[in-house]
Amino acid sequence: MKVLVLNCGSSSVKYQLIDTDERKALAVGDVSRIGMTEAVLSHRRHDGDEVKLTGEILDHQVAIEYVLSILLSKNHGVLRDRGEIDAVGHRVVHGGERFTGSVLITPEVLEMIRECVELAPLHNPHNLRGINACLRLLPGTPQVAVFDTAFHSQMPAHAYIYGIPYVLYKRYGIRRYGFHGTSHLYVSRRAAELLGRPVKSLKMVTCHLGNGCSMAAVKEGVSVDTSMGFTPLEGLLMGTRCGDLDPAVILHIMGREEIGLSEANTLLNKHSGLLGISGVSSDMRDVETEAEAGNYRAQLALDVFCYRVRKYIGAYAAAMGGLDAIVFTAGIGENSPIVRRKSCEGLEFLGVRLDEGKNRVMVRRREGIISAPDSRVAVLVIPTNEELVIALDTAEIVSKAGVQREVVAPIGE
Ligand code: AMP
Repeated sequence: MKVLVLNCGSSSVKYQLIDTDERKALAVGDVSRIGMTEAVLSHRRHDGDEVKLTGEILDHQVAIEYVLSILLSKNHGVLRDRGEIDAVGHRVVHGGERFTGSVLITPEVLEMIRECVELAPLHNPHNLRGINACLRLLPGTPQVAVFDTAFHSQMPAHAYIYGIPYVLYKRYGIRRYGFHGTSHLYVSRRAAELLGRPVKSLKMVTCHLGNGCSMAAVKEGVSVDTSMGFTPLEGLLMGTRCGDLDPAVILHIMGREEIGLSEANTLLNKHSGLLGISGVSSDMRDVETEAEAGNYRAQLALDVFCYRVRKYIGAYAAAMGGLDAIVFTAGIGENSPIVRRKSCEGLEFLGVRLDEGKNRVMVRRREGIISAPDSRVAVLVIPTNEELVIALDTAEIVSKAGVQREVVAPIGE
């Protein structure tokens, strides 16, 4: 089956056309700077052919039209007809408590995704825009929503309930949901494969360290706790997000700086994290380079980042009553030997021992074990592949008997 996987952000659309039988991406690309006159479409075909186009792309629908055109183009394409796309799989950030797994998009599902906008106003509207665009551009092609929150939906109540009046959970759904679920699911399953053990027999901590960062405690294949919360702001230090913070700090700053909700939101989401502490950059590569050159604040940002990862590993080992494996993934997790080393430092008491030689060379989408042979806890680096999970889920749902090619009408965004 050929599945078009779409991940729509505020000003970007990332896509992959995946052949699910071969588990292979036929084409990969993204449209960035949507809404600007100089939007860029980057497209790469499986045989290495690459192309970059620049132009005015004012909304997600136009961006997806461009994606379809390039997939069909004579020189750079991989399809002869739109009808060859068997299904579309959409990454949807928030599925609230309603969605505990991937679902076929029907008018009812579309309405429920719209209701979840309230929980993720920064993310779900863009996902919804992508879905609506595809309903218009590929009418009758089945579409599936795969939620970032779904993998965490089996967390026990003691892990997801906050210490605020319970009525606020009931009234507004305020609880921990967690995100990056597709990534945590993929790397935990893949780690079990690499270790040659059933996932049901393992206690793992998965560390998704990218621009956004989160960790999950995966016990017997189920996410039993995760560091992101009601929104992706909680937990680890991230590129520009603050992570864990005394809530009173926000109130204090709002008073002292005389700022409102929107500015406070921007402060915590866009000006904090690695960028906020280092004053250098939100990109870990720059922070590492500056720290190496002796910049105190860059070193501090790196220290805070790794200390939190280490602290969560310890907390989750306690939450699960043991630890068999730690998995690093995403941009930083896959590429930064320094972060992996500093995050595992001092965890020898838990049975964690890195092989520094293996750690150093595990970069650029390499996959493997970086712990010493006598380490009680296996440490792995696994390049994440959320698109593959989305494509396989989509193919499974669409190929289930009874799925009709129903034309679903777009709804208001
Ligand atoms: P992602 O969100 O998974 O694409 O990760 C993006 C982040 O990965 C970037 O912001 C960088 O901070 C980080 N990253 C990428 N390559 C490296 C590297 N070689 N060393 C350290 N960090 C890296």
